[in-house]
Amino acid sequence: MQILRKTNLKALEKAKKLGAKKVIDILKKKNLTGRGGAAFPTGKKWEFTLNAKSDTKYVICNANEGEPGTFKDRFIIKNNPETLIEGILIAAYVIKAKQAFIYLRGEYDNLRNLLQKTINKVVKKSGVDIKIISGAGAYVCGEETAIIQSIEGQRGHPQYKPPYPAVDGLFGKPTIINNIETLTNVPQAILFNDWDPNLRLMSLSGNIANPGIYELPVGYKLTDLIKKAKPKNKVKAIYFGCFGGCMPYSKIELTPDSICGKNCIIGSYTIIVVDEKQSILDTALSIAHFYCHESCGKCTPCREGTIRVCHLLEKIKSGKATKQDLEILEDLAMNIHETSLCGLGQTSTNHLLTALEFFRKEFEEKLR
Ligand code: SF4
Repeated sequence: MQILRKTNLKALEKAKKLGAKKVIDILKKKNLTGRGGAAFPTGKKWEFTLNAKSDTKYVICNANEGEPGTFKDRFIIKNNPETLIEGILIAAYVIKAKQAFIYLRGEYDNLRNLLQKTINKVVKKSGVDIKIISGAGAYVCGEETAIIQSIEGQRGHPQYKPPYPAVDGLFGKPTIINNIETLTNVPQAILFNDWDPNLRLMSLSGNIANPGIYELPVGYKLTDLIKKAKPKNKVKAIYFGCFGGCMPYSKIELTPDSICGKNCIIGSYTIIVVDEKQSILDTALSIAHFYCHESCGKCTPCREGTIRVCHLLEKIKSGKATKQDLEILEDLAMNIHETSLCGLGQTSTNHLLTALEFFRKEFEEKLR
């Protein structure tokens, strides 16, 4: 696997010889984009921070992987922590930061020792201090302004943007925030001529015989990937993580290259297989409970709306809901999507809107 190749501090050495601007040029030329879901060009992000005027700058490694079905960052920490730490050191070198943080998901506490040992081994005399901050398990702290709030010791609440962290981030200073997969790709992109920007880690789960992490090129046929996964029953739907929405498998089979429909985002390449024996309504309820639990409560549409979504789905499941309830549910889901403050709320109903678009019958069958 490309992501597991070790760079043994040779990329850092090369970066120091080239200088900050040339490193940024390499990242731009090689087209390294963020692997957390937003796909923002990494070189551009670093350039904003490099050009921001300040004596103090910070690097934050976002290790708050918390979306159900996503486990690729955990895989990288376990299998190639040295290259990840080297990526953080290169980021610090480029923007002249002396302090970096790894914001580690609370549930990944078992990886803390491994990360600390690697930091002790790799960082040595680099002049950069890397601190691990343990999150408390809040999914919203994967949002960059919420991470900043949390590291500063405040509630992990997302903030309005602009200003953007690249110029006004942690403690008001310019800050680079990148996720694990992005930072691990940095040394490899700098060192290896054959580094391929199109390879992605995909987290595959569901009722399948071969769940796990797959490294495949963008554009790889989803139907071929599902064949590799060996589903235990006939596949009904594919969920692109929880925030990515769902699609009927039959539709994917017909148009295998077009896997992003309306309200449907491939994002961090999380693929959950749902088969004919599983209920879409139950899946919707399970995901709705997740978002209701993870809403930070700062804005009304998400705080109140996610609770109402759960209530309405439970009512449908119990057989007591009417046609009007289903219409209210759809209207509410669209409102949450359009008016919530941050990405968590905005994407929290993608799964439901797509389920209602493609599997409406399963909801209607339960109406009074
Ligand atoms: S959308 Fe949800 S998670 Fe985001 S700020 Fe509003 S309440 Fe918090």
